[in-house]
Amino acid sequence: ACESMTKTDTIKLRNRHIGKSCQLFYRSDPLKIIRGEGQYMFDEEGTRYLDCINNVAHVGHCHPKVVEAARAQIGLISTNNRFLHDELVKCAQKLTSKMPGDLSVCFFVNSGSEANDLALRLARYYTKQKDVITLDHAYHGHLTSVMEISPYKFNKPGGDPKPDFVHVASCPDTYRGRYNVKNCPDQDLCKLYTTEVDEIIKNIKSNGKGVAAFIAESLQSCGGQIIPPAGYFDSIYRSVREAGGVTIADEVQVGFGRVGTHYFAFETQHVIPDIVTVAKPMGNGHPVGAVVTTPKIAERFATSGVAYFNTYGGNPVSCAIANAVMDVIDEEKLQENALIVGQYLLENSLQLMKEFEMVGDVRGTGLFVGIELVKSKECRQAATAEANAIVDRMKNVHHILISSDGPDDNVLKLKPPMVFNIENAKEFLTAIRECLGQYQSTEKKSISAPQTNGVCNLPSNHKFTEKKEILVK
Ligand code: PMP
Repeated sequence: ACESMTKTDTIKLRNRHIGKSCQLFYRSDPLKIIRGEGQYMFDEEGTRYLDCINNVAHVGHCHPKVVEAARAQIGLISTNNRFLHDELVKCAQKLTSKMPGDLSVCFFVNSGSEANDLALRLARYYTKQKDVITLDHAYHGHLTSVMEISPYKFNKPGGDPKPDFVHVASCPDTYRGRYNVKNCPDQDLCKLYTTEVDEIIKNIKSNGKGVAAFIAESLQSCGGQIIPPAGYFDSIYRSVREAGGVTIADEVQVGFGRVGTHYFAFETQHVIPDIVTVAKPMGNGHPVGAVVTTPKIAERFATSGVAYFNTYGGNPVSCAIANAVMDVIDEEKLQENALIVGQYLLENSLQLMKEFEMVGDVRGTGLFVGIELVKSKECRQAATAEANAIVDRMKNVHHILISSDGPDDNVLKLKPPMVFNIENAKEFLTAIRECLGQYQSTEKKSISAPQTNGVCNLPSNHKFTEKKEILVK
């Protein structure tokens, strides 16, 4: 009943009617997923896949409480937020109760892109400035306004050029970033990265302009699962505020307990942003997002006299779903689970660094982990082809879904549903060990004779998928 046509027919229809730029995962052998449950997804033949990448299905695919909340509310009423509704105000109350400081006012939207677009509008209206500081490799959404502040998109061939009012600071990647432990040994990396932002602010001002906002993901995901150095955001937030700008934390991927130690990832850096954007995990697959800000910023926005209206933002169905998601996180102690399972996953992945020359760096917090693959620990050249081959092999041989990302697409990403357990972590570790084992001999060769042509020895039975294009996760 879940499948109304054969996979071949689905592909044919898709090729005919869906825009080519909508790219599939595993393009040469795409998956047809027809059902999900917890941390598992099932294809049309009933094969079970362990989902290690889906941060949207936050409390688990098709969580019964979330499904029931949606079913019940859609059977009652779904209308817009110009009518009073309890689910809307309860959602705002619950969401802001998780936020520190005076982040107490919400605007509801339908996606992360919409949230960041509105955050920019709030910031620009508040500061009466236009310039935005963003981080290299950042992705903040697919709308024109947020593509402009997403180097992940505009730095690609064919991407629109960067507008003059956008300023890009280096991504604080201390392993292979502009300043790292290898090229800047014994230096204060945090200071090097934050000084860059100070310089940008100085330049903006010397050109007679001002700063509207600094926007960053609290932990950059598309940039390659980056954990910024301690003190990084604190220093930047001070400088930005001193310059009259506001700070925006994009929690679209990393919010809602994923980092284990805190509900929001910015809290790991002990800062309080002026604006926070949330989406993906908030609806567990249903489109819902929000912008949370201070009364001061929200009130200033209201003085514009232009009403904010969003047909679907804050509809009772979306809010009932978001309320159920937040309840499940608390009831099932999923933040604690992320901390415990994440710690196990991280410690054991760190062990891989000792075992495999190719595993250059392992980093993460909670259920947000990155495993960076390099040709050798010494050269730190990105092992992109190997990372892509491993992503394919994990799916084809082990039925485990992971993805790769980062500027060189060499970082294996894990951000599974929060119900991921120790058994799942063990299953992942056994499989990744097997996959990394395929490259042992290659790595030894690359140490004695560094490769210059980017060629690597893949297992003889390996089937390549096409070079992965910019896939937004
Ligand atoms: N911000 C971040 C950090 C994201 O990862 C994404 C989506 N990948 C977005 C914003 C945009 O969200 P959406 O796709 O819901 O518009």
